Amino acid sequence: MKKQLKEKIVLVTGASSGIGKAIAMEFAKEGANLCLIARRKEELSRVAKQCLSYGGIVLDIPTDVTDEFQVKKMINECIASFKRVDILINNAGYGRYGPFLKIPIEEWDRMWKVNVRGMVLVTQEVLPYMVTSNSGHIINISSIHGIHTSANASAYCATKFAVTGLTEALSKELWKQGIKVSLVCPGGVLTHFLGTPPEEKNQEFLEPEEVAKLILNIVTAPEKTLIQRVIITPKTRPFVIQEII
Ligand code: NDP
Repeated sequence: MKKQLKEKIVLVTGASSGIGKAIAMEFAKEGANLCLIARRKEELSRVAKQCLSYGGIVLDIPTDVTDEFQVKKMINECIASFKRVDILINNAGYGRYGPFLKIPIEEWDRMWKVNVRGMVLVTQEVLPYMVTSNSGHIINISSIHGIHTSANASAYCATKFAVTGLTEALSKELWKQGIKVSLVCPGGVLTHFLGTPPEEKNQEFLEPEEVAKLILNIVTAPEKTLIQRVIITPKTRPFVIQEII
């Protein structure tokens, strides 16, 4: 167990399945208190119950990250219970691949709204509490497609490159205020992402728990160390840290 995480307040978006669920479980095992959000109420509640068995306080607040009203309401509830957020993990995401001409504009809008706008909305609500305490850590989940492009992934790449730019600019802006911002770029992970069940994916893909454990390492790095960008892929396993300030 990592002593630094006991009773930390950790907000995880997209916690109802896949990587977000694994992150919630790993932080729960470390004794953190959790605020878990996603849209699917029952799945989220199931994850929250599993996390509760480790003894911390767990709030599950069904929220659509693309809806500013719901995001504000969720943060108000979270702050009413916990008074602060120490670690924000912006993980909620949506992807659809296909040839450029086969991705309708509605799908572009949906990816943009969840992957970028949703991340901005949640961060705008949480950050003021971190600024007040001159502390905090924000982890944004981008993708290997946030730093490398592939054919038939133009829309998803566009949103994840935006996440990369947003994260790295924010990291430079907030470092001097005592707030760390880190980017995590996973390769293929065994989740239901893209609508394909894990058992139908390349079994060499990462387990969601590997990504979650990597995030534990990032947030428990020494105080004066900022891990800016980490790439974790089946080939680079366990992981490659690209930049450390
Ligand atoms: P999942 O589909 O299992 O998880 C996506 C999560 O995002 C779910 O919990 C979903 O919850 C949540 N979500 C989606 N839309 C919204 C929304 N509008 N509001 C709130 N929550 C939302 O996939 P992964 O776990 O694989 O994906 C997690 C992140 O990892 C994403 O950002 C993805 O882009 C990224 N990633 C995934 C890779 C992979 O190969 N799996 C590789 C690289 C990056 P709900 O439906 O309940 O709202």
